[in-house]
Amino acid sequence: MLIESKKTKIVATLGPVCEHEKGIRNLIEAGVSMFRLNTSHGTEEDHRRRIEIIRRVCKEKNLYIPVLVDLQGPKIRVGNLDDEMVITNGQKLVFSPTVKEKGVIPVDYLGLANDVKPGDMMLIDDGKLEVVVEKVENDKVYAEVVNGGVLKSRKGLNIPGSTASLAAVTPRDVKFIEFAVNNNADYIALSFVRQKEDILTARDYIQKFGGDIPIIAKIEKPQAVDNMKEIIQVSDGVMVARGDLGIEISPEKVPIVQKRIINEAIQQRKVTIVATQMLETMIEQPIPTRAEASDVANAIIDGTDAIMLSGETSVGKFYAEAVHMMAMIAENVEHSDFCPYDLDLPINPCYHMTRQAVVNAAVKMVKDINAKAILAFTHTGYTPKLMSKLRPQVPIIVISDSEATCRRLNLFWDMFPFCRDWDRVLNREFLIELDEFLLSNTDLKLDDRVILTGSIPKLITGKTNFIRVHRIGATSVEDV
Ligand code: PGA
Ligand code: MN
Repeated sequence: MLIESKKTKIVATLGPVCEHEKGIRNLIEAGVSMFRLNTSHGTEEDHRRRIEIIRRVCKEKNLYIPVLVDLQGPKIRVGNLDDEMVITNGQKLVFSPTVKEKGVIPVDYLGLANDVKPGDMMLIDDGKLEVVVEKVENDKVYAEVVNGGVLKSRKGLNIPGSTASLAAVTPRDVKFIEFAVNNNADYIALSFVRQKEDILTARDYIQKFGGDIPIIAKIEKPQAVDNMKEIIQVSDGVMVARGDLGIEISPEKVPIVQKRIINEAIQQRKVTIVATQMLETMIEQPIPTRAEASDVANAIIDGTDAIMLSGETSVGKFYAEAVHMMAMIAENVEHSDFCPYDLDLPINPCYHMTRQAVVNAAVKMVKDINAKAILAFTHTGYTPKLMSKLRPQVPIIVISDSEATCRRLNLFWDMFPFCRDWDRVLNREFLIELDEFLLSNTDLKLDDRVILTGSIPKLITGKTNFIRVHRIGATSVEDV
């Protein structure tokens, strides 16, 4: 495989229009870096089938594309209504999880009446309808309509701030955590995270099922925005989940919160995804609005590793075109003066000192010797992850003996994994083999300089502790 020309990674949500083999192939060809399974929809069997196709196609193409199992989390929904209801401003409504009476709107959250108080807002159907709570009595919530419209069954209901008694990981989520472990998912995303304990709870379940899957925290609640520092500390990555975030904190606050989340994640060296409505009009149209194109570009300029498509790929008429469009926007940003490169991050005491020093030096050397790539030999991916967050000017080619590491690293900015069991001593024979490999698998050419990082005495086993400059075609140190 030749190394992709774009550096930003693209996450595509699978759905009815693209989940068949042809669709998955189209998405890969258009530039997808990770597949997202949205467990709000579909059965385990549906998702199992998708993973099977992804793994098969990737094996055939020698690609390492991770699968993200996105847990629905404690999403509250309106229950089943006999008929759609037209509700008007000023109208009084009654909601209840338990009381089944005519005129009472069912809600699937048992803690509803405990968690809300007079004055709280409830937002329904992506925030299209809005009601304000007036009083709570006998497990019934009385509210007045602020923004009317058509109320339909099963629509989402957001209560910004007030969901204290909701379990962070629902029974449905637990089933899908088990599913994720049993099917070797590469990442798990947790929805409606409020505090770091929510992540720890999910991690306990993952361990209980015998897995070790990295967790992406979806920031989409005001409490999560307040607690983002410590949530990011215990997570492996973070998603700016702008759909629910925009409902919970209101849309005008989303752009700056997005920048704050990405900045915090960069400081903590965690992987980031910006999600939702990035190219929304491409669900119906072949071309995005200029505002959408700008949004994708600005997320990259903010410093995100990955950008995500939801409805655009899961139900969109132009699912492959949407990925292609993102890839083209990304390339334009990456070749511009506005794209952040060579971030000057201070040493982070949470990470191994020597490895950070090696990473800093390698990224600096890229400029000094005009290297064309960094080659990182790794088992766990610890060092290349740190490296990617500094955004070196050249791609990081990862060589790992672990397929799981290869797949996970594929989500990071400008990182390209190859799985090879090359736990060797760095000698003449190895360099000859390496050159052959680079010339046939990458765009690198004879005489290009590359920077090698790994560990001594063996390349992959052990903690990264050396840097070496190599000129492709040179078989002794003197030739470099
Ligand atoms: P969802 O999460 O699509 O699972 O709701 C993303 C978001 O809320 O933006
Ligand atoms: Mn959401």
